[in-house]
Amino acid sequence: MKRKCDFCGKTKEENNIDFFVSRGSVICSECVEKCWTLKNKKIKTVNQETQTDRMRLTPKKIMSYLNEYIVGQEEAKKTLSVAVYNHLKTMNNPNIKKSNVLVLGPTGSGKTYLAETLSHIVNLPFAIADATTLTEAGYVGDDVHSILLKLIHAANNDIKQAEKGIVYIDEIDKIAKKGEGRDISGEGVQQALLKMMEGCLVTIPGDKERKTIMINTNNILFICGGAFSGLKKKNIKKGIGFSAELVKTQEEKITASDLIDYGFSPEFIGRMPIITTVKAADVSMLRRILTEPKNSLTWQYIELMKMDNIELSFSEKTLNMIAAEAYRHGSGARGLRSVMEEKMKDIMFEIPEEIPKKSYKKQV
Ligand code: ADP
Repeated sequence: MKRKCDFCGKTKEENNIDFFVSRGSVICSECVEKCWTLKNKKIKTVNQETQTDRMRLTPKKIMSYLNEYIVGQEEAKKTLSVAVYNHLKTMNNPNIKKSNVLVLGPTGSGKTYLAETLSHIVNLPFAIADATTLTEAGYVGDDVHSILLKLIHAANNDIKQAEKGIVYIDEIDKIAKKGEGRDISGEGVQQALLKMMEGCLVTIPGDKERKTIMINTNNILFICGGAFSGLKKKNIKKGIGFSAELVKTQEEKITASDLIDYGFSPEFIGRMPIITTVKAADVSMLRRILTEPKNSLTWQYIELMKMDNIELSFSEKTLNMIAAEAYRHGSGARGLRSVMEEKMKDIMFEIPEEIPKKSYKKQV
């Protein structure tokens, strides 16, 4: 049978080249070569573009991007903008040490969202880990190195990219020595995380292709977050529960020594030189979160309904009610979606049955 390349049409007789067959398709070695050249060229252009885009960023620009998605939390946004800007600089100069960040604040106040949005802005791989699932090597649970595996996956197995990535470790307060509900002391986990966060060469078990993977954590930015309920400031008797008001004055700012008292080793806290806080969302902030961010919850439901030819709008009264109810749930902005789902359930159930030909307006 005469062999012919499905892509360029050349035959073996004409060219004396190699042919490969895969799932019924035939490709010649010349076309394979062309594909590789194209692919490499493309990768190079994409990487060069993102590199120059990153170089154009400044802390103010990063902050203004953050403002499009995150309501309030000005102090944390400012601190993180500077931290990430410096991260971009240290990435290109191994002699400058990176500074990891600790973000304190109640659940649903946007800690994870801040870290995730930052990674999108700077277009770097991002991984989230939960400190409560981490254990020392040899115990049942996730080894701390599992965090790096997640980051490598997020970087599409590109180790060099992963080595510049951002890791968010949630519930870091749960590995404090006196952490409740942990049968294994968090101290061992602190110890294991410490080296990784500071920067070292880590060897982790690989996959089918690579038996082991070596990854340098020197330029990986670690952002840790936790609620730290009951955290007490030295010389201030009452606990700082972040429930209503937050640390207002400079003197009341959380310091490393407060965190050491909370149950962290000085060495561990030393690996997070930047400490910032986020506020608990009150009703008015929840109301703003409903509509102000670029991809706000109301925008998402309006887009959903558009697909059914409905022009959805929300009355001021409904929005205030949703914010107030979510506030009562006590899970911060996270509660907004479940309240909204409940509110929209009947409408979303009924409407697809009677999709109008012309779009019509509906207010909830
Ligand atoms: P945390 O990590 O502090 O527990 P998250 O970052 O997971 O909270 O927040 C849950 C969700 O609430 C986010 O995915 C985001 O949609 C929303 N959210 C929280 N805080 C804000 C905020 N300040 N601005 C906009 N959205 C927010």
